[in-house]
Amino acid sequence: MNLSYPLFDIPFVGIYLIVLAFLFGTVFASFITCTAWRVVRGEDWMLGHSHCDTCGHELSTADLFPVISYIALKGKCRYCGSKVPPRDLIFEIILGIVFAGTLALHGVVDAAVISALALEMLLLGLSLADWDSGVIPNGFLAAILVVWIMSAGFRPDISRFAIEGLFASLAVGLLMAVATAIIGKINKTKMNYGPTKLAMCLMLFLGFKGSVIAVAAAIVLGIIFVLACKSKKRKISLAPAISIGFVIAFIAKDVLALLSVAV
Ligand SMILES: [Zn+2]
Repeated sequence: MNLSYPLFDIPFVGIYLIVLAFLFGTVFASFITCTAWRVVRGEDWMLGHSHCDTCGHELSTADLFPVISYIALKGKCRYCGSKVPPRDLIFEIILGIVFAGTLALHGVVDAAVISALALEMLLLGLSLADWDSGVIPNGFLAAILVVWIMSAGFRPDISRFAIEGLFASLAVGLLMAVATAIIGKINKTKMNYGPTKLAMCLMLFLGFKGSVIAVAAAIVLGIIFVLACKSKKRKISLAPAISIGFVIAFIAKDVLALLSVAV
């Protein structure tokens, strides 16, 4: 089944959908940062109520509007007046921009772009969880696999998508597993295979060319993150590097396609 809608056939509709994508990005960022926070703390991520971290007061719906609540309350808790760190606000705006940019560059509303938006949301959540706890929760990886299975069903090129994805996933997974084992042997430490599992899940979506771009970007970003973690003497977390590498690879494909049309 192939469902696709060219974004700029009617320019007004295209701009409307891009603005909508930004708003969805802020809402989903608000949801996923909260989910990641609860998963890391072992709270119920579906049924739990959001509360102020200082006074513990349960937050009402009016306190939970992404971006707007933060600005309206001037970054303070309505109940105890303590300062709320701007981290969530920053990630809401970032995911809004990433959603709008992904859609605008892709130029078509189709299964590929919808699965990319779902992935970008999950990547934000698991990156935050990894940054806070040093562990990539398996629940996020399972959700990525669900997105892959669902999006494959809507692709016109399902067999090529599946076969290229599986090969890329196995190749990158094998390389990373061997590299991780060697580093573990040299340092005589127990290694965390979370980053390997994450990379394997993401390569399923990219195929050969995309995987090469993602791996190259993730290696450069990975080195930056390792140095940053070491300088702050904190647990090394690689999920943000792998996630940003993936988003770069996904967007790069669309940028290259746009350039080849322009030339
Ligand atoms: Zn409070």
